[in-house]
Amino acid sequence: PTPPGPRPIRRLQESVINRIAAGEIIHRPASALKELIENSLDAGATSIKVTVKDGGMKLLQIQDNGSGIRKDDLPILAERFTTSKLSTFSDLKRLTTYGFRGEALASISYVSNLSVITKTKTDTCAWKACYADGALTPAKPGMTADAKPCAGNDGTTIVVENLFYNTPTRLSALRGSSEEYSRVLEVVTKYAVHNPHVSFMCRKVGTPSPEVSTPSSSTTVQVIRLIYGQTLAKELLTVSVSSSDKGKARASSPMQVGDDDEDDENVEAWNAEAHFTNANHQAKKMIFLLFINHRLVESSRIKKAIEAVYNGVLAKGTSPFVYLSLQIDPRSVDVNVHPTKKEVHFLNEDAIIEQIADVVQQALIGQSHSRTFEYQT
Ligand code: ADP
Ligand code: MG
Repeated sequence: PTPPGPRPIRRLQESVINRIAAGEIIHRPASALKELIENSLDAGATSIKVTVKDGGMKLLQIQDNGSGIRKDDLPILAERFTTSKLSTFSDLKRLTTYGFRGEALASISYVSNLSVITKTKTDTCAWKACYADGALTPAKPGMTADAKPCAGNDGTTIVVENLFYNTPTRLSALRGSSEEYSRVLEVVTKYAVHNPHVSFMCRKVGTPSPEVSTPSSSTTVQVIRLIYGQTLAKELLTVSVSSSDKGKARASSPMQVGDDDEDDENVEAWNAEAHFTNANHQAKKMIFLLFINHRLVESSRIKKAIEAVYNGVLAKGTSPFVYLSLQIDPRSVDVNVHPTKKEVHFLNEDAIIEQIADVVQQALIGQSHSRTFEYQT
């Protein structure tokens, strides 16, 4: 049989391209929520309230008391690559905010019905704007595309409805609403632990009490106790580690020549804080919270190294709770990686991981004499 002749190559429609790209950034309700929580934290919020319907697929709403968005910025808010956080390429290496590329809201607007209600302190009322395909749209058919005045508190409420309604392949890749909801809850609880000064709340529409509710200005251990329970919290150990003094000494020597003071700091400087359970705590499944430069990330190498430490301490088949917050120089971690790359890599990864694992091990062994350990024969 003769092969079929070549088919013509056509340019995809812009809106189709954007929808596909959006699906690569926003995988599921929980990944949209992560971006939105980070935006609220970037805006200086001390209260973040999440409301969810149908696992976040019908409704994902996040209300914060942050800076709000200027009314004049609303027309371009959901355009791709519009951001208040980055203006030059060199800004990338010293980023301290979560967002930097202005892609989250744009992506969400391509695959859902997005609306935003926002009020700055100086606004006399709140403004509501609806978005589709990266652009401001009329709230109702027949209306002009513009922000509308409405009642509202200082801060921003982002309402995401019918996520993936126009991307059936994404929609079918989702699990049921209870599975999606548990992923949403996981994102909220992890950010709550990492931001004990911020009050977090997460509830399903129509349920009387929230599943997660933390007060503002708590301590990390208080939040862990609130969320994971007293049984776990009473077995917590805490350590902080930082790069060796040798590293610090080098930092003050004029190693790099730059026109900028910040560039003289040691790129290799790092510090970490960890809260983790001792050998008395034996859960079935490991709970691992990892934040690098305040971003919730994954690192299978760090996880493996810590699991290996616990292998020598815990009985077979049992697992710890570990919360690790690592801060490294922004220049030593590639922030420019694609946002879907949750798995991060950084400079001197092996050495840093080894030192953290060592300190965790010392702390675990230091307390393990108080417990009789049963060896399997
Ligand atoms: P990025 O966070 O990378 O800048 P986003 O698409 O997430 O991109 O957000 C675009 C811009 O919208 C942000 O730079 C910020 O100025 C504004 N913004 C988004 N969410 C909020 C919020 N909750 N409060 C205040 N401003 C916000
Ligand atoms: Mg963002």
